[in-house]
Amino acid sequence: MIIQDAEFGEVIVRRNALSTGIKFSVSTSGRLQMTVPGHTREFLAKRFLETHRAVIREKLPVKDPANQRARDAKKKMLTKKAKGYLPYRLDFWAQKYGYTYEKLRFSHAGTRWGSCTSQRVISLNIGLMQLPEVLRDYVILHELAHLNHMDHSEAFWREVGEHDAKYLAHRKALKAYSPGV
Ligand SMILES: [Zn+2]
Repeated sequence: MIIQDAEFGEVIVRRNALSTGIKFSVSTSGRLQMTVPGHTREFLAKRFLETHRAVIREKLPVKDPANQRARDAKKKMLTKKAKGYLPYRLDFWAQKYGYTYEKLRFSHAGTRWGSCTSQRVISLNIGLMQLPEVLRDYVILHELAHLNHMDHSEAFWREVGEHDAKYLAHRKALKAYSPGV
């Protein structure tokens, strides 16, 4: 459920059968998010929002609606770019170094550039499209190496280093960027 609020913009209301009270947080898209018990009706959620307006204003860094729209537009643009580029780049490196993976997924998590599961599913963050190419390639090579090593062991890093001789510098440079959109 989404509540349109004049002050906070779109407020995401998540019903959670396990939750006993109402909790406020900020979603990854910068929207205000309310977690409410499963049976909570819309008018109650709205009333709660009304009575907590001052606290929310003070405690949560909610972006204004214009800002939310700008982020949505950016996310859409990055997703489009990512879909037109990352599958080909991932294939390029995979073929070059003889890796096979099951599937590529796109993510927009605020904390990780990529991941690789034991089912050989690689996820790449759409925020990679904002990075210099060498760093983007480092992330891709890093995730590909996880197909052979599901950890960050010495053997893992040795493999990354075989494909990206400057991986240490790239790993360090990556820290200056954040994957969040
Ligand atoms: Zn890793």
